[in-house]
Amino acid sequence: MSQTLFAGIEGGGTKFVCAVADENNHILAEARIPTTEPAETLAACADFFQQQKALGKIKSLGIACFGPLDPRPTSPGFGHILATPKPGWTGADVVGFFKQSFDFPIAFDTDVNGAVLAESLWGAGKGLQNLVYFTIGTGIGAGVIAEGKLVHGFLHPEMGHIMLARDPEHDPFPGSCPFHGACFEGLASGPAIEKRWGLKGDQLPPEHPAWALEAHYIALALVSVTCALAPERIVLGGGVMAQEQLLPMIRADFEKLLNGYMQTPLITRQLDSYIALTELEGKAGLYGAFALAQQAWEQTR
Ligand code: ADP
Ligand code: ZN
Repeated sequence: MSQTLFAGIEGGGTKFVCAVADENNHILAEARIPTTEPAETLAACADFFQQQKALGKIKSLGIACFGPLDPRPTSPGFGHILATPKPGWTGADVVGFFKQSFDFPIAFDTDVNGAVLAESLWGAGKGLQNLVYFTIGTGIGAGVIAEGKLVHGFLHPEMGHIMLARDPEHDPFPGSCPFHGACFEGLASGPAIEKRWGLKGDQLPPEHPAWALEAHYIALALVSVTCALAPERIVLGGGVMAQEQLLPMIRADFEKLLNGYMQTPLITRQLDSYIALTELEGKAGLYGAFALAQQAWEQTR
């Protein structure tokens, strides 16, 4: 019997991970390709998929990519990377490139939109129709599912750049975001922690004051997101969340900041599952690509 195969690309700033998997995400072939110039990187990805033809017919390709990008299939800019500091990538026509060689449907979205879709299918938000996923790593990004659909708005949300209240006496660090200074990413990303304290997050001990401050900024952001979207759950991933002491501190601060508002048992009785850790640690990117591929294929059936 021929297998149902899907292709996925997790497009990141340092590498593009390409893989072919069956409908259960069982990976049959995988390659890691360095992110250099778009022409070189994308050609290597296309070669990889050409070489996997013997595995069987691929139904669709999902690309979960760093942004900003244009994920709207009806837009003339669909499939392109938008203005980015990554040399050579501004304006790169990622989907157009693969369309030259392949005739299967191609889905293209942000890495975090892929991740939230994957969490809703296979991870910490399984079955939920209203879900937010945050990655807290080199950058901070979020993907949103509302009423069962990925939220795009005019392009895609950028909730890593929401503005947070900062007390300069308590935290004099002005923030590291080149656009906004003290936005969420500017205050709480991995590089922000390193700039503020002079040490990388993984070198700061668990009892260091860095973590109470970090938990406070994350809790402020989650309160804003809860008030804005009323998600059924918020899933957290990314390198910084490897600090296990953070999660309980975030929940405690969140409860204090929300202060009894938005009375739902989801929050009042089940806070531990309302703010949850990713269940796809390390795989949210690639699973996100497969989730996008499967969704694209189902939409054509
Ligand atoms: P990326 O965001 O680049 O995809 P990650 O999610 O792994 O990658 O995030 C990398 C960031 O997370 C870096 O800024 C790094 O310093 C930070 N980080 C990685 N591991 C830890 C850790 N154990 N504790 C705190 N911060 C960490
Ligand atoms: Zn910002």
